[in-house]
Amino acid sequence: GRGRSGASDLVPSRRQYLDLKAQHPHAILLYRMGDFYEAFDDDARVVARDARITLTSRSFGRNGRVPMAGIPYHALNHYLARLLAHGHTIAIAEQVSEPGRGLVERAITRVLSPGTVGEAALLPEGENRYLASICPFGDRIGLAWADVSTGEFAVTELSGPRARDQLAEELARLNPAECLVPDDGRADDVEVAHRTRMEHWRFEPERARAELTRHLGVRSLVPFGCEDLPAATAAAGAILAYLERTNPALLPLLTGLRTESIDGWVGLDAATRRNLELTRSLRTGGTRGSLLGMLDETRTAMGARTLRRLVGQPLRDLSELQRRQAVVAGLVARPTLRAAITSSLGGVGDLERLVGRVTQGLGTARDFVTLGGALRAISPILASLRVSGDPALAAFADEIDPCTDVLTLVEAAVEDDPEDGARIRAGFSPELDAAREGAMSTRRWLAGLERRERERTGIKSLKVGYNKVFGYYIEVTRPNLARVPGDYVRKQTVATGERYVTAALKEAEARILAADEEIAALERAALARLTRDVTAATGRLLTAANRLALLDALLSLAVVADRGGWTRPVLEDSATLEIIGGRHPVVEASLEGEAFIANDCRLGGEAPRVLVVTGPNMGGKSTYLRQVALIVLLAQIGSFVPAERARIGLVDRIFTRVGAQDDLAGGSSTFMVEMLETATILRQATERSLVILDEVGRGTGTQDGLAIAQAVLEDLHDRVRARTLFATHYLELTALAERLADVANVHLAALETDERVIFLYAVRPGPADRAYGIQVARLAGLPPWVADRAASVLRGLTEMRSAPPPAPAERELSAPRVAEDGAPYQLTLDGFTPAPSEAERLARALDSLDLTALTPREALDWLFEQQARL
Ligand code: ADP
Repeated sequence: GRGRSGASDLVPSRRQYLDLKAQHPHAILLYRMGDFYEAFDDDARVVARDARITLTSRSFGRNGRVPMAGIPYHALNHYLARLLAHGHTIAIAEQVSEPGRGLVERAITRVLSPGTVGEAALLPEGENRYLASICPFGDRIGLAWADVSTGEFAVTELSGPRARDQLAEELARLNPAECLVPDDGRADDVEVAHRTRMEHWRFEPERARAELTRHLGVRSLVPFGCEDLPAATAAAGAILAYLERTNPALLPLLTGLRTESIDGWVGLDAATRRNLELTRSLRTGGTRGSLLGMLDETRTAMGARTLRRLVGQPLRDLSELQRRQAVVAGLVARPTLRAAITSSLGGVGDLERLVGRVTQGLGTARDFVTLGGALRAISPILASLRVSGDPALAAFADEIDPCTDVLTLVEAAVEDDPEDGARIRAGFSPELDAAREGAMSTRRWLAGLERRERERTGIKSLKVGYNKVFGYYIEVTRPNLARVPGDYVRKQTVATGERYVTAALKEAEARILAADEEIAALERAALARLTRDVTAATGRLLTAANRLALLDALLSLAVVADRGGWTRPVLEDSATLEIIGGRHPVVEASLEGEAFIANDCRLGGEAPRVLVVTGPNMGGKSTYLRQVALIVLLAQIGSFVPAERARIGLVDRIFTRVGAQDDLAGGSSTFMVEMLETATILRQATERSLVILDEVGRGTGTQDGLAIAQAVLEDLHDRVRARTLFATHYLELTALAERLADVANVHLAALETDERVIFLYAVRPGPADRAYGIQVARLAGLPPWVADRAASVLRGLTEMRSAPPPAPAERELSAPRVAEDGAPYQLTLDGFTPAPSEAERLARALDSLDLTALTPREALDWLFEQQARL
C-alpha cells in the first residue's frame, strides 16, 4: 500500500507534497500544479464534497494512484469561499521557482482559515468577520475577538454565576467565523460554530501577556485596561499566536486592544436577537425585513458594519447614549448638511479595509491613489460639521483626525496619470525618476530612429518595429533591399522584405529592457517605503476610519428618523417606560400606505410593571410587544424612536420568549425549548430588565399551560419585578390583575359584526371579553360548515357551565379545563353537542325551506334529493 512505502520510495513530487502537508496537518493543502490547485488523498475527498468539484485520481509513479480534486487557478477565490464557509482551514502551496527542468520548488505562501481571511474578495462587505478566542480560567472566562480585515481587536472577561450565559450572549452577538479554544477540553462545553483547538499552553496568561506587550510595544497592559484580567489576556494572546502561525502579515493591523465591559451593554440572548429580528428577518432569512434592514441608509461598507454593531450592542451608558443622540438630533435637523456629508462619505469609501490592505503590504499604487482620495474627502466633512453651528456636531468633528500628514505623504508619492493610470509620482524617488528618464530618452531616440534612418538611406518606406521574439528591428521592403547600408545586420526574412538590426538598435533595446526592470524594482521599493511610512500611522488611520464609520451609521439613523417622523426619546436612569403613540418600525414600513395604528405603553414608575395583553388572534398582540422592545432597543443605541414621544428608563437586558407556534427551529420538543428560555428569564432578569413573553405555556396541555403561565407571571411580579409585557390566550389570566397590585390588563380591540371580526389594533385598558377564535377562523377561510359547527359546540360549552368562567377559549376542547373554583373537571361527551342525526339534519333542512317561494317543481326536486341521501 502507498502509505507503507518508505520515504525513499516516493517519487519526488509526492515527497514534496507530503512534506508540505506535514507543515499544516490540520489544513487542507492546495498544491499548485500548472493551472490548477490540487488537493490529494483525504483532502481531495473533502474538497470534492464541500467545494463541489469532481473527484478524480492521479498516479505518482510506482506509488500508485491517489484521489485528487483540482481547482482552476482563476476560480480559486470562488472555491476558497465555499471551503471557508464549511469551516475549513486551507494552506496554499505556490510554485516559487520558474518551471524548468526537474521538480518545481513549492512553498506554503499563506494559510486561510474562516477567521483569518483578510482578502476583501472573500469577505461580506457590510459585516464584520470575527476570529474569537475563549479561555476559561478558574471561575472566569476570557473572550477575545479580532477582525483581521479592519484591525478591530478586543477582549472582555466574564465572571460570576452568569458567566456562561453571558458568553453565549456574546457569541450570539459576534457570530464568530472561527473560535480558538484550548485543546485540554476546558471549553468543550461551549457551543460555537467553527472551533479550532490550540495548544493549551498558548492560553497561559503570563506567556500571553508577554506576547501582547511585545506586539503592542508596551511594558504593561494597564493602558489597554486588561492588566488584571488574566483570562482575557490569555484569550487575546492565543489570537496573536494563531495569526503568527497562519498569516503573520495580518499582525501589524492589530494596533490596539480594547477591553470591553459586558456591563456596559444591554444583554440580548440569541433567542431575543432572533425573535426581535434585529439583523435577520425570520421571513426572508436575510437583512431585508429586519430592523437593521430598515435602518440601513449608510453610504459606506464600514458604516454598514458599524450600524450592524450598534444594533447588536445596545448600551447602558447614559452619557454615551446622549452623545450619540445629540449627533443624530443635529443631523436630523439639517437635511442640507446630511446631503453634503453623504456625498463626501462616498469618497471616503471603505477606508477601514483599505488601511487593512495597505498595512498587510498588499497596497498597490492604485490602492494608494484610492487612499489619497479617501483622506482628501475627510476635511470637507469636518468643515461641514464645524460650520453647522451645532456643538455636538462640532465636537464630533474635533474627535476625527483628518490624517492630513498621511494625505500629504500619499499625494507626494502617487498620482493618477491619465495615460499610465495609478503610478509613483515624479519627485518621490530620484532613482526612479532617473531610471524613467533613461528609459524615456532611449524611447525618444527610438522614436526618432525611423526618421533618421529614412533620411540616411533614402528609403521612404523604412520602418522601425518591435516583436516579442526578435525585439526591435528595421524593416525594408523588397524593392529597396539594394539601398540597405552595410552596418545593417539581417535578422529575419518576411514576405514583403527583410528585417535588420544595428549595433545601436541592439544597445538601445538592452537599455530599455534593463531600464524597465529597474523601474519595476524601484517602483516596488517606492511602494514599500510608502507602505512603511503610511503604516506608521495605521492606528490613527483606523481610529479616524472608525469615527467616520460611526458618523455614517448615525447619519443613517438620522435619515431614517427624519423620514419616519421619529422623535428623540428622553433617557433616564429609572425603571419607568412611557411610550406615547408608538409604532413598530418594520411592520409600519411594510404596510405600504395603510395606516399603522399607534399605541401607548406605560410600564413601571406610576404605572403597573406588568401588563397582561389579550385580544384576538391576529389582533396585533405580538406586534405591540415587539414594538415596545424595539423602541427601547432603538433608544439604547442612541437612535430616535417611532413614537410621538417616549421616556425610557434604561434597561439592563431585554428578554423575549415567543410561543411555540412561532418557533421556526424544529427538532427537539418546542415545549422544552420554551421552558428552558422561560427558566433563563426567571433566573436572570432583574428589576431593570424588560421582559416580553408571548404565549408562554402554549406548548403543553391547556391546564398545564395555564398553570405554568400563571406561576411565571406571579414570579415576575412578586420577585423579579421586571417591566413585563405578557401576551396570552388564556383569558383566565386576566383575573390576576384583581389580585396582584402591579398587574394591569390591556387588550387589542376588535369589533364584531355578524360573524365577522374587524381588528382595530388599538390597545385599550381592561381584558378582552372573548377570543373571537371562530370569527378569525372564518376570516382564514375555514369552511363555513366547520365554523358553524364550532360555534354550536361553543354554545354548548358555554351553556354547560352554570357559572360561566371568563369567556372560554375555543381551543383544545378535548383537553381538561380548570373550573372556576380551581378544581379540575373532565369534559364529558355530554358536554358536546353530538353530531346531528339524520333525522335532525332532515328537520333542519326542512325548517330552512322557504315554502312560500318554492314552485311545485322545486318542492318535488327537493324531496327526491332528500330521499336520495337517506
Ligand atoms: P397577534 O399576535 O395578536 O396574533 P400580530 O401582532 O401578529 O397579531 O398582528 C397581525 C397583523 O396585524 C400584523 O402582521 C400586521 O399586519 C397587523 N397589525 C398588527 N398591529 C397593527 C397596528 N398597530 N396597526 C396596523 N396593523 C397592525
